[in-house]
Amino acid sequence: MIRFTDLSLHHAAHRRQELSALSRAAQDARYIRGPRLAAFETSFAAYCGTRSSVGVGSGTDALTIALKAFGIGPGDCVIVPAFTFISTAVSVIAAGAIPVFADVEDSTLTLDPALLERAYTPRIKAVIPVHLYGMPADMDPIGAFARRHGLIVIEDAAQAHGSFYRGRRAGSIGHAGCFSFYPSKNLGGLGDGGAITTSDTKAAERMRILGNIGQKTKYRHVLIGLNSRLDDIQAAVLSTRLPHLDRDNAKRRAISKRYRRLLTGLPIRLPDDPAGRETNMHLFVIRTPKRDTLRAFLTKRGIETGIHYPLPLHREPTLRHLGYRHGAFPVSERAAKTVLSLPMYPEMSVSDQRRIADAVREFFRRVTE
Ligand SMILES: *Cc1c(COP(=O)(O)O)cnc(C)c1O
Repeated sequence: MIRFTDLSLHHAAHRRQELSALSRAAQDARYIRGPRLAAFETSFAAYCGTRSSVGVGSGTDALTIALKAFGIGPGDCVIVPAFTFISTAVSVIAAGAIPVFADVEDSTLTLDPALLERAYTPRIKAVIPVHLYGMPADMDPIGAFARRHGLIVIEDAAQAHGSFYRGRRAGSIGHAGCFSFYPSKNLGGLGDGGAITTSDTKAAERMRILGNIGQKTKYRHVLIGLNSRLDDIQAAVLSTRLPHLDRDNAKRRAISKRYRRLLTGLPIRLPDDPAGRETNMHLFVIRTPKRDTLRAFLTKRGIETGIHYPLPLHREPTLRHLGYRHGAFPVSERAAKTVLSLPMYPEMSVSDQRRIADAVREFFRRVTE
């Protein structure tokens, strides 16, 4: 059996360090907004290259809080890609605004800058490019579009810890970057967590208040907020993991390179590698019209795979009320039918990778016979 990912391996490799960080946090008993959170926020901001970072309860809350911090709410519209994890749109609705979908580039499946002008209306106040699978969206033309119309740019960097766009870290390019520390992300905790990065000090202050039920100081409520904080105990673990992130991302990129080599010549589409964008290889996603039969074949061979994601957002049952028709976003619709994520995690063995590639080869040999 080859698992899609194995989250126990990182902890196993750094068990002593993680357990002692947890134990110290438990003993110290400053569980909410404690010193380990403050320390992690400082080091995560430094890592991303922003002035501040604000720990919150999840990546979804990070997006909602970032939108609210920039004053986006009822009456406003926000452009999001039609192909992403549903949180990108759910957070807009949670902030009281309306998501407006735009299609993605066929090459990277990130927001297509060429389609933004067409999606624009005067009610649009922000745009959320998603660095899907870790691949940064094309931020320069997206930023130019936003400046033309005075829009806020919030990066959904929930999959992009450590990715680069033209030398800048994901999360430091827009007005704010939103991260998730869900366990399976490249930087994950032992449960839910998230952070917002920004160099706008005033916005960071509002984010901190919004995540703390609107309290500026204890029992002085200045905004309608959420209860969405990053626990001291999670921050303690994340601080032990952050120093390993670049090395783990490099391992993922090496695995991706090997996949490319092992899978050349097959009738599948491998991930594009555009100049100026360095992915953290959160997911290794191939595309083939035979996705469903290939997936079933690999399952029978004991190889777990994933589909990120089976539906474009305008086809999601809970978002159909937004009123988009079938066929409105052809690239997103095709992607949802053809994407297949192969196992990818830093500790993955070469022999497992060979077995996966051999199985994919065998599948295509059989279907062409
Ligand atoms: C994981 C993820 C989120 C949400 O993060 P949570 O911590 O699970 O709330 C948002 N956007 C994208 C693209 C994600 O992959």
